[in-house]
Amino acid sequence: MNDQSLMEKIVSLCKRRGFVFPGSEIYGGLAGTFDYGPLGVVLKENIENLWLRMFRDDRDDMYGVDAAILMNAKVWEASGHVAGFSDPLVECGKCKKRFRADQLDSKEACPECKGALGDVRQFNMMFKTHAGATEDDSAVVYLRPETAGGIFTNFKNVVDAIHPKLPFGIAQIGKAFRNEIAPRDFVFRSREFSQMEVEYFVKPADWERAFEEWRTRMHLFAKEIGLPQNTVHEFEVPDGDRAHYSKRTIDFQFDFPSKCDELWGLAYRTDFDLSAHAVASGNELSYLDEETKEKFIPHVIEPSLGVDRTILAVLTSAYKEDTMGDETRTYLALSPKIAPVKAMVSPLLKNKPELVEKAREVRAALKKIHPAIAWDDNGNIGKRYRRQDEIGTPFCITVDFDTLGETPNLKDTVTLRHRDSGEQERLTVAEVASRIRAAIE
Ligand code: ATP
Repeated sequence: MNDQSLMEKIVSLCKRRGFVFPGSEIYGGLAGTFDYGPLGVVLKENIENLWLRMFRDDRDDMYGVDAAILMNAKVWEASGHVAGFSDPLVECGKCKKRFRADQLDSKEACPECKGALGDVRQFNMMFKTHAGATEDDSAVVYLRPETAGGIFTNFKNVVDAIHPKLPFGIAQIGKAFRNEIAPRDFVFRSREFSQMEVEYFVKPADWERAFEEWRTRMHLFAKEIGLPQNTVHEFEVPDGDRAHYSKRTIDFQFDFPSKCDELWGLAYRTDFDLSAHAVASGNELSYLDEETKEKFIPHVIEPSLGVDRTILAVLTSAYKEDTMGDETRTYLALSPKIAPVKAMVSPLLKNKPELVEKAREVRAALKKIHPAIAWDDNGNIGKRYRRQDEIGTPFCITVDFDTLGETPNLKDTVTLRHRDSGEQERLTVAEVASRIRAAIE
């Protein structure tokens, strides 16, 4: 499978099975926007919940916020985004199409029509709007280009409310907006996306230790969501290429279908943000060490993970095709921890009430382990398996006449089919339940 066709197959499966749809589709779409469908919503929630567990709840030094998307424009002036959050833009004099200059092979000729390209200018990527009924400059607000802003502006609130001891961090999941010049590669680069971000506040001398700690945790998260180790690569961003606030950045790159590109970032933001907001807001954003009585502005380590790129990486790793004879089976080898449906229960025949009744009982018992246990009695059993394979359901359970006692020593046993190998085994319902529990825990 070439990489282009892999991307096309993922996009098509996402649409067909209800993971991700193009935004505003019935009106011809809106470039750079996507809507998550019934299965995509659950996949996304499962990834976010795993992140919350690993980056916030499993730790004693992490707290959450859920800040407003609309923020005072001064936040983005202080953070440097109004002045500097831009990409180089170039326009073709002939077809008028616009491109990101740093992504073109030739700075002279248009890649689409070969017309002459104009001068490069900086294009600020923040979406601008107005709050309230006035539309003058005093009412300008920006949709946040990163969730981090709402964390820094709440630093003092969290310190005053919780009195955490340094080092501690604040985690947040939420939407971010960037008016990308060239949205591309499905959900890889969109104009509206979600981020899972941590700002971890440390004593200045402690930054390297904290950086390493979060670096390890990011690799662990990659493993937990099922990204093979050899597809995640660290890239040390050199001086001059880093964001204006960063003294050290490691990009976690992933082998996406189109190319190896940034999946997540880990940055040492120094005291840049808190210092800038302290000066601009006139508030003291320092930390008082109760023991040493030392007062200082903490430094910050930021693991920043895009939810949508994570989903694309997960789907890229999970997409598999098996060819047997002239039949091809497509399946998503999703980790059971994040698979939207954990298991499907099915009566062998849907027109046998005794089988249906028993299968419903089995499903009710398994739902006590996890609510995402599906029911499917449409078409033959082979078709049901294929449908579940395509959405990444790790287990299929079939209730047949042996379950009812046709073969006495098999009474109350069911068939458990494994998604990746297609292998089947005969187990009691209690054994199936413990298999499912073990796989998702
Ligand atoms: P890029 O260089 O690809 O534009 P970036 O370095 O500007 O990304 P960051 O500002 O570090 O990205 O944002 C943190 C994370 O947010 C990224 O690692 C990525 O997962 C996600 N992200 C950033 N921009 C987009 C986008 N336009 N669409 C989807 N996810 C994005």
